[in-house]
Amino acid sequence: MSRRVLVLGGTAEARELATRLAGRGDEVTTSLAGRTRHPRLPGGEVRTGGFGGVDGLAAALGDVDVLVDATHPFAATMTAHAAAAAARTGTPLLVLRRPGWTAGPGERWTRVPSLASAARAIPAGARVLLATGRQGVEAFVDVNAWFLVRAIEAPGVLPARAELVLARGPFALDDERALLDRHAITVVVAKDSGGPTEAKLVAARERALPVLLVDRPPLPDGVDVVTSVEAALSRTAP
Ligand code: NAP
Repeated sequence: MSRRVLVLGGTAEARELATRLAGRGDEVTTSLAGRTRHPRLPGGEVRTGGFGGVDGLAAALGDVDVLVDATHPFAATMTAHAAAAAARTGTPLLVLRRPGWTAGPGERWTRVPSLASAARAIPAGARVLLATGRQGVEAFVDVNAWFLVRAIEAPGVLPARAELVLARGPFALDDERALLDRHAITVVVAKDSGGPTEAKLVAARERALPVLLVDRPPLPDGVDVVTSVEAALSRTAP
């Protein structure tokens, strides 16, 4: 029996899940926030733009059998809205979150609870690779350091001393090594996004560079969480 599944997307896992749900015959719609102008699209239907808060999302759940929140681990508002709207409408909710990273040997990671605390932890005069995404840049505007800001699209603000690189990952290890060397980077700031270990973290380890790793926001209480597309597929099976 085919099911109507609404996938809250914006991640590679969401894209893979939606494509595979559509492939097995489910009626799947992926919802994208619309932040990226040319997103990679999944199989099934796609809708774009916010719902207008919890009320709007709850209204959109009318004929949905399962809601899957497969948003980025840092998209905390959408995740909170999904939990509230699912509870209000009695719609089964599954959260798909890839596991966070664990430091391996040789890694000089310092975990920080927020972008603001990452900004406070940057030593004066540092040369920073800031790879926390367009929306995270604001927290760093007053820091006394030089920044190489990398994002998919240009942020609204930049720190006073900064160079912007527009690029979309995944990045090759050789390119990350060259980037760190060319700009004489002394600190890397990244979010604990999880997924395959990113090349920038490998290149930072090779150079014994410190990494400020921003922790994920907590999930709402009581939500049902899986950590892989495989698990999400079996949990949403009829
Ligand atoms: P957010 O702060 O949690 O959400 C802000 C608002 O954006 C939500 O209240 C909602 O508007 C709308 N929204 C977010 N995700 C949506 C979705 N999948 N479909 C429809 N509306 C959505 O989210 P964010 O951090 O701005 O992230 C936006 C999108 O980018 C997410 O889908 C996320 O998966 C993706 N993303 C985020 C990051 C990150 O680091 N935050 C990184 C990579 C990708 P309404 O209240 O009007 O419904």
